[in-house]
Amino acid sequence: MPISRIGPGPALYRGRFAPSPTGPLHLGSLVAALGSYLDARTHNGIWLLRMEDIDPPRIQPGAASAILRSLEAHGFTWDEAIVWQSQRQAAYAEALARLRQTERVYACTCSRKDISRNARLGADGPVYPGTCRRHQHQSPHAAFRFFAPNAPIAFTDRLQGRVVCDLGRDLGDFVLRRADGVYSYQLAVVVDDAAQGITHIVRGSDLLVSTPRQIALQKALGLTTPTYLHLPVLLDAAGDKLSKQTLAAPLNNADPLPALLMAMRFLGQSDSHPPATLSEFWPWATARWSPHRLPRWRGAPLHAPTTPHSLSYP
Ligand code: GLU
Ligand code: ZN
Repeated sequence: MPISRIGPGPALYRGRFAPSPTGPLHLGSLVAALGSYLDARTHNGIWLLRMEDIDPPRIQPGAASAILRSLEAHGFTWDEAIVWQSQRQAAYAEALARLRQTERVYACTCSRKDISRNARLGADGPVYPGTCRRHQHQSPHAAFRFFAPNAPIAFTDRLQGRVVCDLGRDLGDFVLRRADGVYSYQLAVVVDDAAQGITHIVRGSDLLVSTPRQIALQKALGLTTPTYLHLPVLLDAAGDKLSKQTLAAPLNNADPLPALLMAMRFLGQSDSHPPATLSEFWPWATARWSPHRLPRWRGAPLHAPTTPHSLSYP
């Protein structure tokens, strides 16, 4: 049975912004919101919001409503009802059950310690060594892992170009549901992007390492793969991604224009006549948006010169 759709039928362009409510919106998340929004609007597309409130220990009370207030104060408008991942357990359970039927999944009882003792380091932390692959554990306290496919996963990112990933070697069998019953980000995103009919994903390059896992799941579930554009992410002075964890300053809802202009400049979309008011900002930004101008780096500090394609990656 296909994943049931939320909302109306197919559109040519359906994009989304999918924040995790682990803290208020900051300049780094504004860059991703703005990039996905302008790309959707300039394609006459639909733009949706999804609240990724799936991982209870990481969620901060009040953060989801703070994010929504901030988006509104900055002039974002979204189409259709917000999807809350905390209410989508049944859909994730169904997808996991389908994958289990096709024997793409196995139960894993390894502790974090077991794994770090035996694993080598891959693209996103330790690569699970496959210890439980043949055990067929029945424990109710097991995690579920997806067998990484043997064939490489390849896709062409609209900005980063061709990406090829050997999942088995670089990332290993990944978790679909943790031992505490929480569904993984990888599974939830794939199920929800399909349910919301997302055709174009524009998000930060910090998630580029997740995309091959998501494509592998889409294939296993018989879902269409959307197109991807992974934007540069804003780095702090130490070279780390600006994030709620690094306590990036929240946006100032009382004065939204400076942050929006900074985000446009960071994305290489500015010109010599920036608008003076929020209401002038949106038509200007929509007219200005051109993915060809995006700098191709994956991460940069705010005041890096934003000459397009001045850095290239293999
Ligand atoms: N919720 C994820 C985050 O805040 C983004 C998910 C996505 O865009 O796929 O990092
Ligand atoms: Zn295991």
